Amino acid sequence: MREDIKSLTLEELEQRLQTLGEPKFRAKQIFKWLHGGTERFADMTNLSNALRERLDETFEITVPKIVRKQVSKLDGTIKYLWQLADGNCVESVLMQYHHGCSICLSSEVGCAMGCKFCASTIGGLVRRLAPSEMLDQILFAEKDSGLTISNVVLMGIGEPLDNFDNVLKFLELLNHPNGRNLGMRHVSLSTCGIVPKILELAERRLQLTLSVSLHSPDDESRSAIMPINKAYPVDELLDACRKYFSLTGRRVSFEYTMIDGVSDHEAQAKLLAEKLGGMAAHVNLIPLNAVTETGLRASTREAIRRFQTILEEHGVTATVRRTLGSDIDASCGQLRRAYEKKEEGAPCGHGA
Ligand code: SAH
Repeated sequence: MREDIKSLTLEELEQRLQTLGEPKFRAKQIFKWLHGGTERFADMTNLSNALRERLDETFEITVPKIVRKQVSKLDGTIKYLWQLADGNCVESVLMQYHHGCSICLSSEVGCAMGCKFCASTIGGLVRRLAPSEMLDQILFAEKDSGLTISNVVLMGIGEPLDNFDNVLKFLELLNHPNGRNLGMRHVSLSTCGIVPKILELAERRLQLTLSVSLHSPDDESRSAIMPINKAYPVDELLDACRKYFSLTGRRVSFEYTMIDGVSDHEAQAKLLAEKLGGMAAHVNLIPLNAVTETGLRASTREAIRRFQTILEEHGVTATVRRTLGSDIDASCGQLRRAYEKKEEGAPCGHGA
């Protein structure tokens, strides 16, 4: 099997080229082509034909195929369904704001975390993405849309901290001055709360924003919707967030999905404010995006406003997330599911 060249760091690429008897500086040239979205070695015009052929025999360049693309008529949000080399599919959502473009990336095919409200986890985890496959979502969304992406959020399909090594390698590639050169402050990583991995990430002292999917401040209701809470309960998770802040100096952001009758009680707002008290935190209230299979409903607008008011009265800053792309099902895992259901036995059907 040919090696996945785009998942290599510049240093690794330099070693590979040295093995092929090539000077080190070639690696930089190739790295630049790859991170610019070049799809074939044949197009790397500053390399000799012989080297291009040699590279093609040794390495593979990943190129995802767009199998579905939906553009919101309301706000220009673009949702891509990509097909990877092995036929599996993942989604990305490209959002346009006045301050630039953000992309929401997938880190895994499917998800093992089992959150009750989420479409991505319904068929379980199929496999983790390679660093190149995360990078490709950026490179090829830019290529297709002609837009420049200035912010990256790891908030699509999958649990990034369940794919820790590949996600960190992807971030290193994304950040590299000879590559996409995107600053860590323009990256957010969202997790359901795998505490040991949050602590490991904190030790790296990266300047990215950690976003924690909290969705409930009490163990009973959180465990009912998020199985991970049974392993790492709320207080342990919040301790890890405090540690994250103390090591990185970065304010932690909390996602809180408003689910009717499950997470929107006034007592939960008070408990949440109490537990976050004194912490450098920000709460993002997200109206649940109804997924047919889950049977859960979004909270009413009044309930959301009341919840926000209680938090603010207790000194916790909270915003209600603006819904982008609501006409194109632009939330986690829904496009992939719809595609799988419609095309049974199709390339990305994995029996989910
Ligand atoms: N696994 C990571 C990242 C992927 S999910 C995590 O759990 O954070 C991205 C965010 O969307 C999470 O906050 C997740 O809880 C939320 N989410 C999933 N399904 C949703 C739905 N149906 N409605 C609203 N938010 C949802």
